Amino acid sequence: MEIGIVGLPNVGKSTLFNAITQAGAESANYPFCTIEPNVGVVAVPDERLEKLAALYQSEKIVPTTIQFVDIAGLVKGASKGEGLGNKFLSHIREVDAIAHVVRCFEDDNVVHVDGSVGPLRDMETIHLELIFADLDVVEKRLLKSRKLAKSGSKEQQMELDVLQRIKTLLEEGKLVNQRHFTPEEWNLIQSFQLLTTKPVLYVANVSEDDLGAPDNPLVEELKAYASEEGAQVIVICAKIEEEIAQLPPEEKAEFLEEMGLEESGLDKIIHAGYKLLGLITYLTAGPKETRAWTITEGTKAPGAAGKIHTDFERGFIRAEVTPYEKLLEAGSDVKSKEMGWTRSEGKEYVVKDGDVILFRFNV
Ligand code: GDP
Repeated sequence: MEIGIVGLPNVGKSTLFNAITQAGAESANYPFCTIEPNVGVVAVPDERLEKLAALYQSEKIVPTTIQFVDIAGLVKGASKGEGLGNKFLSHIREVDAIAHVVRCFEDDNVVHVDGSVGPLRDMETIHLELIFADLDVVEKRLLKSRKLAKSGSKEQQMELDVLQRIKTLLEEGKLVNQRHFTPEEWNLIQSFQLLTTKPVLYVANVSEDDLGAPDNPLVEELKAYASEEGAQVIVICAKIEEEIAQLPPEEKAEFLEEMGLEESGLDKIIHAGYKLLGLITYLTAGPKETRAWTITEGTKAPGAAGKIHTDFERGFIRAEVTPYEKLLEAGSDVKSKEMGWTRSEGKEYVVKDGDVILFRFNV
């Protein structure tokens, strides 16, 4: 699962991305080819891991990770091939969700491509590029679809109808939002690989002074817009994130407390991104390691087991499941079993966030 960081030049994308790679469990770059976006892998912070590891006296902790791609270079005219426009748009096509960084900080030393700071205008500039690119795709597809729909199958009629509605939305300057469609239609829409259908979260990059202060008017504006779209706005200061990411963990907590913050901006983005992608975590724990695993919400036990090893899925017998809170309350798995809090679940069990699982399987 991958989140693409997009935004106009000079809004703070690289600064944020640096914070990600510094905080990263590992990072991979593509130095051989400057057009390739940078990829950073970062651990998903989860305080449950330390507590579980203490319970099992685990030798190590393995968090789950999420991947970010820095998609720099999106400018006005990208959809018409300005700059390296189409290249950048194709990078966006490959990600699962978008973190759209919007500049909400004033700084005379940092040039704005349009001369002044204006988050709504900036956001619209990016949206228009995505919309133009999608209109191209939709119009091409409509040509085919109109011909096919004449033959009259139900599926083809639906495709034509959906494409026409998407076109109308795009022409009104709107992103294509799941709320406008039935689940069946939305499934079909996924196959079009559009840019404007990707889940989005907005990252408002504010100045050092504005962090922890009440929202400035620029952020308020952005929040009002995003709430209409049903999207979330995370307020960060990229410069401070870069500093936080360099601190050792103990100092990080201290620094955040001094700033009156519960969580770093980066951690907020990671958690929001995780949610946006419909991801949840289940856990495995033992003396060797305590580990977090990422699955999509709605995954059944065998599918979750398959994350660990395909053999676990193939030979799945059952899953011994204890909700994290219950396990902690019990203080050990033996006690949890005594209390009846550890359940034996079969193939149809839908795994929940925070389930601590031991899989039984045939080899
Ligand atoms: P990008 O083009 O979107 O990747 O933007 P950069 O991350 O390179 O940032 C552009 C400039 O803005 C750099 O000089 C940064 O130091 C500066 N900058 C980024 N974030 C902040 C911030 O939160 N506050 C201030 N004052 N400057 C920032």
